[in-house]
Amino acid sequence: MPPTTPPQDRLRLAIQKSGRLSTDSLGLLARCGIKVKAPKEKLLLHSENFPIDILFVRDDDIPQLVMDGVCDLGIVGTNVLEESALERRSAGNGHAYTVERELDFGGCRLALALPEERAYNGPQDLQGLRIATTYPQLTRRYFAAQGLQADIVYLSGSVEVAPRLGLADAICDLVATGSTLEANRLRAVETIFKSTAVLIRGDRPLNPVKTHALEILLRRTDGVQLAAEAKYIMLHAPKAALAEIKKLLPGSENPTLLPLAGDDSKVALHAVCQEAVFWETMESLKKAGASSILVLPIEKMML
Ligand code: ATP
Ligand code: ZN
Repeated sequence: MPPTTPPQDRLRLAIQKSGRLSTDSLGLLARCGIKVKAPKEKLLLHSENFPIDILFVRDDDIPQLVMDGVCDLGIVGTNVLEESALERRSAGNGHAYTVERELDFGGCRLALALPEERAYNGPQDLQGLRIATTYPQLTRRYFAAQGLQADIVYLSGSVEVAPRLGLADAICDLVATGSTLEANRLRAVETIFKSTAVLIRGDRPLNPVKTHALEILLRRTDGVQLAAEAKYIMLHAPKAALAEIKKLLPGSENPTLLPLAGDDSKVALHAVCQEAVFWETMESLKKAGASSILVLPIEKMML
């Protein structure tokens, strides 16, 4: 089905074509009820049920595309965003964008890592080192803030092999689990930036139709993210223990109480918990007298 909204009234969102952010970015759209058919082969796809077009690009291109107004929106890691903003600033260009939402995926950190055998007692031990990185701006900013000098070597990939090849003394690279570092006999010594995926928009005004579509998209994004943590909890509680049980429920307000057929001493309690419900919480509930405790995932939420 061809899109019915004219192009000027459709939002344009840039997401990563393939890589660590692409599945989660498409997943977010899907959970927002936005249908996008068979991505990947095409550069630009029209959603069939929402006035949005998706542009699939390398993540490094996303900040530029949004700041230059080619796309209205983008989903990108703050590592790439901040690096790009610093680069634009140093070139004398503006960096006009707004972070609309922090997203609950793409978490990683940018860390300085040294060969395992090299002693490290604090940032002063980094003075004068040659550092290989894909993030020269963020690295330079860290060194400047510490009042230290460094010789920064830009590499677009495979940064972790630079020390072994004698190209650098240390690296500044993204770390999630640390296994890549370990495999290359490196250890992270300082985290210089914590990153997460964000939904950004450029500073050019949107027309009223697009503004409305963006409001819906943001509301749905909030609903999806709220629901990700939230749980629906159902249990049977002795009336006498209700006060204590309510206190144990994490982040829940005003639970619903229902009578239990054939048992006057107990009620069924239903509540939405805004925080994770752990086994420990369930054990405490049980100890307080609750029984038949069910914890259910929530798919969507609108407050
Ligand atoms: P592209 O071809 O789009 O340039 P890439 O190789 O630069 O891809 P990926 O490795 O897919 O990028 O990482 C994209 C983004 O995912 C990173 O910039 C970062 O924001 C985020 N990310 C999340 N976890 C990690 C991780 N463990 N290592 C690296 N990046 C991560
Ligand atoms: Zn990239």
